[in-house]
Amino acid sequence: MSARYGKYTWPEIKGMDKDRVVILPVGAMEDHGPHLPLDTDNLIISRLSEAVAESIPQEVLLLPTLPFGFNEHHKDFPGVIYIQPETLMHFVADVACSLAHHGFRRILLLNGHGSNHPVLDLAARKTVIATECLCVSASYWNLIGSAIAEHRSSKIGGIAHACELETSIYLYFDPDSVQLDKAKKSIVHEDSNKYLCLDLMGGSKAMAMQWWSAQTEDGTMGDPTVADAGKGKLFFDSAVKATVELIREIRAIQLHPRKDHH
Ligand SMILES: [Zn+2]
Repeated sequence: MSARYGKYTWPEIKGMDKDRVVILPVGAMEDHGPHLPLDTDNLIISRLSEAVAESIPQEVLLLPTLPFGFNEHHKDFPGVIYIQPETLMHFVADVACSLAHHGFRRILLLNGHGSNHPVLDLAARKTVIATECLCVSASYWNLIGSAIAEHRSSKIGGIAHACELETSIYLYFDPDSVQLDKAKKSIVHEDSNKYLCLDLMGGSKAMAMQWWSAQTEDGTMGDPTVADAGKGKLFFDSAVKATVELIREIRAIQLHPRKDHH
């Protein structure tokens, strides 16, 4: 049985197990340093979603990747396609509410781009307020903190954007598209900072919302020079395993009707 949502007819969707978790992958089209293509977030989140769907096809349905995200703060770098956060939130909530309208009860917004994270949290909240379904928002790197800690070579600050993590995963899937000779280390925040140290493993307790081009010369944040395909496979396999576990948890949640106490 296919896990691809669009491969079904409407009578098949009508008869579908509505406890399958519908995955909406959300990426971005933006600068990833001089060494990685613009589609880095899309490649990673699409491959991750596809691998998850292949490993548990009876338990999920996979929507196409939404390839644009919230990243206007990147627009000084040529090539960025930026969507307003309000637009993205409404668009994603509309997709999720459509699913709820057809009876699906469990939705996962699976994110591949940092600044989408708070927007998708809000979209999930809006969906839950508007419908009776469960909508979960997750950014893949947050699921694999321990694997990142185990396999990384860079110190905190080395994994943020076009970094050791993203470059390693891209090298694993498509090394011919990575211009590793152009990769430069760019640690933006000092790891001695107590509160401001952006790292996807969770360095920063506060977020400095600056223009991207004001912080980094070539768009890189982190250390891509220590990336390799072997680490990319380790990071990616961890992300697949973690996402499958998350989906099983989503499926196991007992859904109770809301209770208005007025
Ligand atoms: Zn990225």
